Amino acid sequence: MYHRRALLVASAAFGLTLAAAPSLGFAQEKLPVVASFSILGDFVKRVGGDRVSVTTLVGPDGDAHVYAPTPADAKAMAAAKLVVVNGLHFEGWLPRLVKSSGTKAVLAEATKGLMPLEAEEGHDDHGKGKAGHAHGHDDPHAWQSIANAKVYVANIRNALSAADPAGQASYAANATTYLAELDALEGEVKAAIARIPADRRKAITTHDAFGYFVKAYGIEFVAPQGVSTEAEASARDVGRIIRQVKAQKIPAVFLENVTNPRLVEQIARESGAKIGGRLFSDALSDAAGPAGTYIRMMKHNISEIEKALAAGPA
Ligand code: ZN
Repeated sequence: MYHRRALLVASAAFGLTLAAAPSLGFAQEKLPVVASFSILGDFVKRVGGDRVSVTTLVGPDGDAHVYAPTPADAKAMAAAKLVVVNGLHFEGWLPRLVKSSGTKAVLAEATKGLMPLEAEEGHDDHGKGKAGHAHGHDDPHAWQSIANAKVYVANIRNALSAADPAGQASYAANATTYLAELDALEGEVKAAIARIPADRRKAITTHDAFGYFVKAYGIEFVAPQGVSTEAEASARDVGRIIRQVKAQKIPAVFLENVTNPRLVEQIARESGAKIGGRLFSDALSDAAGPAGTYIRMMKHNISEIEKALAAGPA
């Protein structure tokens, strides 16, 4: 009996040694991929499946407009074979991180080939950016249209296939499954909007994150803050929005997961509009929250929007 037991212990230890030595090729090594923020992280996980290991830089409820990378981020970048970013000047902090990390990874822009919307200007000094740097005026929040999300997914599928040609069939199959889910999701969003009376399809959000959603689904969102959270809303912007809410009888104002609620609470208080819940604009919630994936985020948002806008005044 002693012998047998000793043999088992020895083989278990041997097994561990093998597992810890990937160069022996016993376990398939996963493709190390970095995604710049949580929504992209979800897309990469869905398309990559079990062939990839995804590190997300700006995590749940994080604001990618104003992110400060950590040493762990630089390490993940250095180890990555592929880095997936949004582009359209969303991740202003990224070029420095690429440089400081010394990464040799391929950089893939998920918005490649999309027609960007122009950021709305004219809010006093917005659009110039806080430090007056020469940012483009493209609106980066393209994922808020599900048709665009499908372009993101196709770009990610192509980038993964180029980085790991052996996985091409797997990435193609995962993308096809996911794209069908996105088609169904888009149908749900359109049906929900159709249930809101046309004259009530309008609301206030904190920052201008829903331009693509507005254009795709036919609803009007007004925001005191511009397309980046970098610049503060001025008292004049807030006053203008309060007058607009009253004049146009805008039914609801929404909180956002990445912005301070104070501004929207003030607008609600001074205009008499109700607070219609919290929308996820630029980041998912954690897995336990209401918006742990892109699909859950869009379902949560449309459900909050419908609840707040569909019913007339009590
Ligand atoms: Zn934003």
